[in-house]
Amino acid sequence: MSTEAVDLLIVGGGINGAGIARDAAGRGMSVVLVERGDLAGATSSASSKLIHGGLRYLEFGEFRLVREALVEREVLMRMAPHLIHPTEFVLPHDRTLRPRWLLRLGLWLYDHIGGRERLPASRRIDPRRDALGEPLRRDIAAAFVYADCQADDARLVIANARDAARRGARVLRGTELISARRVGSLWSVQLQASDGVRSEVQARALVNAGGPWAMEVARRAGVEHGRAALRLVKGSHIVVPRLYMGAQAYMLQNDDRRIVFVLPFEQDFTLIGTTEAAFDGNPAEVACTDEEAAYLCRAVGRWFARPLTPAAIVWRYAGVRPLYEDHARSASAVTRDYVLLRDGEALAAPMLSVLGGKITTYRRLAEHALERLALPGTGGPWTAGAPLPGGALAGGSLETAVEALHSDCPWLDTVIADRLVRRYGSDAAAMLGDARRKEDLGEAFGAGLTAREIDWLRREEWALDADDILWRRTKLGLRLSAGERARLEEYLAQRNG
Ligand SMILES: Cc1cc2nc3c(=O)[nH]c(=O)nc-3n(C[C@H](O)[C@H](O)[C@H](O)COP(=O)(O)OP(=O)(O)OC[C@H]3O[C@@H](n4cnc5c(N)ncnc54)[C@H](O)[C@@H]3O)c2cc1C
Repeated sequence: MSTEAVDLLIVGGGINGAGIARDAAGRGMSVVLVERGDLAGATSSASSKLIHGGLRYLEFGEFRLVREALVEREVLMRMAPHLIHPTEFVLPHDRTLRPRWLLRLGLWLYDHIGGRERLPASRRIDPRRDALGEPLRRDIAAAFVYADCQADDARLVIANARDAARRGARVLRGTELISARRVGSLWSVQLQASDGVRSEVQARALVNAGGPWAMEVARRAGVEHGRAALRLVKGSHIVVPRLYMGAQAYMLQNDDRRIVFVLPFEQDFTLIGTTEAAFDGNPAEVACTDEEAAYLCRAVGRWFARPLTPAAIVWRYAGVRPLYEDHARSASAVTRDYVLLRDGEALAAPMLSVLGGKITTYRRLAEHALERLALPGTGGPWTAGAPLPGGALAGGSLETAVEALHSDCPWLDTVIADRLVRRYGSDAAAMLGDARRKEDLGEAFGAGLTAREIDWLRREEWALDADDILWRRTKLGLRLSAGERARLEEYLAQRNG
């Protein structure tokens, strides 16, 4: 058993835990972040990957959340332009839907309540005459276009964890909080690493960012947050080979009034989601069913000219939204806003539990969390203008950064240079290190993945196994063959052994 005392122990290496760790470390706090699996291993890699205000939340009167999220789009784009980029969303319309005046009003609000600076305003188009309407059925005569952002959710988590570590936080992946109790003015926390080794950490405050397991984490710390509860709502996505040309996305309204997004994904693919259904199983075992996959294909078929069948699916994933229970009737209507519950208002050793929230609002959530804890002797908010690792792009844009990398490394394939900048941003050159030609990158594992990159992911990003690399640090799982994956597993076994 080893003991130490820190300012903050954070449970959960999803976007909220990683975001709070980064902010706290930058305020000068000593921080330990524990994640029992992989960073972004749960909800934070299973989202629709949108940094958005959430147009449909206006309908539920969630003005505070929508405003905060709209403002955050622009802040996050500046912090991580390699991971977050603007996308045009096409919203086709017909007479069976909400009336046009209502949509126009919603879009007007969306354009105006969030201090929009860089994103264009919404507009109406005739999809039969506009290239954006090309994939849609020919009888659809009206559509609206508005702007939001797409993000690499898992890499956003990693970027926050890396910056937290750079600022002194200890990031312990594969480490579970087993129990915690108050001893005087400190928390005494029992941890267990994946190899079974136990340790104890003492902390002035505890943050519970356990996502769908937040209530269980609270119980393990002997904390009951009164009548507060989580409502777990499952959501599934499917990925198919690219359905259309162009960088635009589609927001489709379904017969059941639900929304399905069709999104450009990883250059050669289309991401479709999400479903929404109450969930009472084990969140670690959530999976996209055939029924959900068929539902998503039907939703596309309702608006797109070409039908889509489940046979086209190349990947599917599911996650569980850990929403704050507000007793709304339908899963779609439950609030997406977050709630921070502080146990021990008057105690010296507080615990703060995070319930609900979105990837989009994680940075503000972190600021609010640290405000609520108000630990004495720590700094104020600082993250709004501070780029995340890789975020200081040469020339300020993805295009100029790819050109710069390619001119520094002319031996690098342009497609690979593009992918590396989208993954590592301004750190792409550091990842390539002293390589002067392709051969210097070591063994090639397929789709441009090399030993040099794998070693960087292990050293800098806490990657351990093939899924960490193929489905979270990258999405190369979409491109590697079974044989190539097997070789990667062999390589990792040698390195980890
Ligand atoms: C289908 C779907 C679509 C979504 N789409 C969007 C979207 O487009 N845009 C958006 O902004 N948001 C979206 N969201 C919401 C967003 O993904 C979540 O709000 C967010 O990821 C939650 O992050 P978190 O850090 O709270 O939880 P998680 O990412 O689940 O992290 C919690 C972590 O805690 C760890 N943990 C639990 N117990 C312990 C313990 N005892 N010890 C150590 N570690 C522990 C878990 O292993 C887990 O990794 C979507 C969610 C879903 C499910």
